[in-house]
Amino acid sequence: MRRHRKVKIVATLGPASSDFATIRSLFEAGADVFRLNMSHGTHEEQRARYDIIRKVEAESGRPIAVLADLQGPKLRVGTFAEGPHDLAEGQSFRFDLDPAPGNASRVQLPHPEIFAALEPGAELLVNDGKIRLRVRDCGPEFADCTVTAGGAISNRKGVNVPDVVLPLAALSEKDRADLEFACEMGVDWLALSFVQRPEDVIEARELTKGRAAILSKIEKPAAVRAFSEILKVSDGIMVARGDLGVELPVHSVPPIQKRLVRACRAAAKPVIVATQMLESMIESPMPTRAEVSDVATAIYEGADAVMLSAESAAGAYPVEAVATMDNVARSVEGDPTYRDIIESSRSAKRQTVADAMVAAAREIAETTDISCICAYTQSGTTASLTARERPRVPIVAMSSEQGTLRRLCLTWGTHCVQTPSLERFKQAVVNAAKAARDFGFADESNQIVVMAGVPFNVPGTTNILRIAPCDERLIYRTDPE
Ligand code: PGA
Ligand code: MN
Repeated sequence: MRRHRKVKIVATLGPASSDFATIRSLFEAGADVFRLNMSHGTHEEQRARYDIIRKVEAESGRPIAVLADLQGPKLRVGTFAEGPHDLAEGQSFRFDLDPAPGNASRVQLPHPEIFAALEPGAELLVNDGKIRLRVRDCGPEFADCTVTAGGAISNRKGVNVPDVVLPLAALSEKDRADLEFACEMGVDWLALSFVQRPEDVIEARELTKGRAAILSKIEKPAAVRAFSEILKVSDGIMVARGDLGVELPVHSVPPIQKRLVRACRAAAKPVIVATQMLESMIESPMPTRAEVSDVATAIYEGADAVMLSAESAAGAYPVEAVATMDNVARSVEGDPTYRDIIESSRSAKRQTVADAMVAAAREIAETTDISCICAYTQSGTTASLTARERPRVPIVAMSSEQGTLRRLCLTWGTHCVQTPSLERFKQAVVNAAKAARDFGFADESNQIVVMAGVPFNVPGTTNILRIAPCDERLIYRTDPE
């Protein structure tokens, strides 16, 4: 089983996609990575989904990545005695620490840190930015605001405070418990919500202890400002356009998306473009043209992955949504303009041996008649660097490390294959040729590029590049030990 596209698809699981048959159908339709959203559902429900994913993985023989998305310091108002209440433009409204049920003129905001950081003039956004309030006066336990855009406020609605770097711990008590649960279970990626500073990522890494790779969600203006520092300490990035479009003017999201995608590719770290990609498919079997264009744009930009949220977690057409993304990807990637864009946005070569090797592998593959690039990779670095080159031919990532193969499911263009631990390079060539043939990337008459580091099992030693025949008899005849 192989995909016929380079970009990867992340599908969020939820009430609409929790049984074996649906999860298997999502995988067959094209989902490469499954996202467990820790903001919803119990640990038991997440574990049941996780177990099903691993069953689908075992049944298909193909690695699948699981990404657990931590809720992060999401702010919410308290509850109301009766509600919802309509807040009108121009009226006054108070947030405070009093747990007493709210009314038409006040409600609890149970986060003392916010009151400490607020200043008159700051903006508070409620319910995905639908309600806007400007702080008039504030103290350590209250903020008196004027409503600048009205709407209905009700129990536990989310609050965004875009103007201030909040002195909030990156991980709440719930996040710490969820992180431990997810790592113990065996997820491959952990996503951190509302990252504000690189220290937030470093803190999570200390708790993760290498058990999962870390993906930072960029959804705060502070994270956009500190992006290059956050990228350095992260293993991957999500352009979390939902909250980003609430915290910043919505028209500033597309340029940010473009810049982040490009920076991640240059850093050889996977980037997901997320949220409301096919929103109308929650209720309709057909996407809008605007949504199809949005998915296509992310792919043209060179994103590693596109993501479904409610479309696959709670919608009526989860499998159709994945199939739609798969179709859009094939259509875009078959367009000569796509290759032009990808070629022209390749970053300058860096100066290490590994950089030179992957650049050479792509050039050889595209100059001569090579069917695929097989990259032996222990930590995943060689495969990620090869993917950064965005070669036209498929990348077959070969590793004995199951965790590496699973994590690479998020990386552009990689087809991941498990291989036994090797002693000799000749065996590596034989195994690569077999994988290329087995998965339909090449036949016996073709040639492949094989990249590896010798001695094996020492990370960061990519130092052999071999152009090999796919025919096993020829390998044995022509290859040195
Ligand atoms: P969420 O993150 O779905 O967890 O809110 C993604 C986003 O904000 O876009
Ligand atoms: Mn978000």
